[in-house]
Amino acid sequence: MLLRHTTTEIKERKALTVNPAKTCQPIGAMYASLGIHGCLPHSHGSQGCYAYHRSALTRHYKEPVLAATSAFTEGASVFGGQANLLQAIDNMFTVYNPDVIAVHTTCLSETIGDDIPQIVNKARAEGKVPEGKYVIHTNTPSYVGSHVDGFANMTRSMVDYFSESTGHKEKTINLIPGYVEPCDMEEIRRIAGELGIRTIMFPDTSKVLNGPMTGKYRMYPEGGVTTDALKKTGDSMGTVAMGALASGPAARALDAKCKVPCEIIDLPIGLHATDMLIDTLRQVAGVNVPESLTFERGQMVDIISDMHQYFYGKRVGLVGDPDQVLALTKFLVSLDMCPAYIITGTPAGKKYEKALREVTKDVPGEVKIKVPGDMLLFHQWIKQEPVDLLIGNTYVKYIARDEDIPFIRHGFPILDRVGHSYFPTVGYRGGMRLLEKILDALLDRKDRDSTDIEFELVM
Ligand code: SF4
Repeated sequence: MLLRHTTTEIKERKALTVNPAKTCQPIGAMYASLGIHGCLPHSHGSQGCYAYHRSALTRHYKEPVLAATSAFTEGASVFGGQANLLQAIDNMFTVYNPDVIAVHTTCLSETIGDDIPQIVNKARAEGKVPEGKYVIHTNTPSYVGSHVDGFANMTRSMVDYFSESTGHKEKTINLIPGYVEPCDMEEIRRIAGELGIRTIMFPDTSKVLNGPMTGKYRMYPEGGVTTDALKKTGDSMGTVAMGALASGPAARALDAKCKVPCEIIDLPIGLHATDMLIDTLRQVAGVNVPESLTFERGQMVDIISDMHQYFYGKRVGLVGDPDQVLALTKFLVSLDMCPAYIITGTPAGKKYEKALREVTKDVPGEVKIKVPGDMLLFHQWIKQEPVDLLIGNTYVKYIARDEDIPFIRHGFPILDRVGHSYFPTVGYRGGMRLLEKILDALLDRKDRDSTDIEFELVM
């Protein structure tokens, strides 16, 4: 009973978050930066922040996460971090030779008000940025937003710094995959490949944060979108951006900067959202859907119809990032499950909350939604009336344990399991995996709780 002090009495709180369902902006910015080939993320702030950002990513992906810091001390905190960043840029290019340095700010440097573009221009003027190398930046004040905003900001910066339009359109589609796992990015690219579409995906953390153990350390792994490819995004015939919160800003920036029309859709989690991805790609690229994808779809439909009785009417509590939560809610509703409690820690706005309410309007019983909300409130709702299943990041396991509720780990961060960075949950194949996970959780519980008479060999 680790959370034994959680009460059922709910009080309106405006100035206090307890057990937040989010983390800080630089973590998302760092994750996005790692999706550029040869990129060294740089945290402009103190070593404490940077150590936390790196360890959060390392613990989730079980991979060493490369980053640098301006290592603010008291002096920099008072007089600004220009000298530290200038020195850091010089050191990084001299010692570690990255293609790109991606600078993000922390709460401290934001509060001081360091002007990063001015500092980078000074570094360039002083010859600290070698020919053919880049320093990009984004602002990530963590007292607003969350890691999702940090990801969105850095992804948009890739457009701001790199995308160019030559006036000659290529038959390429830009894919902005959203804040998903490296394996999800791989799966989205595979689906586009099945459709015969040439794509540029950014960011792309596949093969960076889910690479193989080869016995050799590579400072800059094979994966990631190259700077050349990023430049070409401005000549693509269209952009398909997945997840309005994480990918929308970059897609709109690219449209505004290079006149590349964009479609912003849900993360392709579940049957209908995957249909939407494939249909959007089909229309934007003018291609036909191959039999291979229709086959995968049929397999997923088969599992849903075979096992529908176990999904039907089950009450679910969901915690996570807004794009993930919206797509998962739609998926659960399509399975006739009942998302009863929904929380996202990211301040995703009224429009987002309205979309969630619209999706759940026909769900039987009261659906409680809080955007942004915290896990204390979520736990209190559960104490008042339990659910059959919990879906969320590792922090939800305390509630799952205290309340004895089946739990599926999904989202960010997952600190105590592996698999999330290798086995996708997007697309039809990912949907099948999610269905399996939901069924395993529900049926394991049924097995555990059945009396000897009810205990079934074939369920
Ligand atoms: S001080 Fe700000 S940037 Fe640093 S770890 Fe905390 S929330 Fe993140």
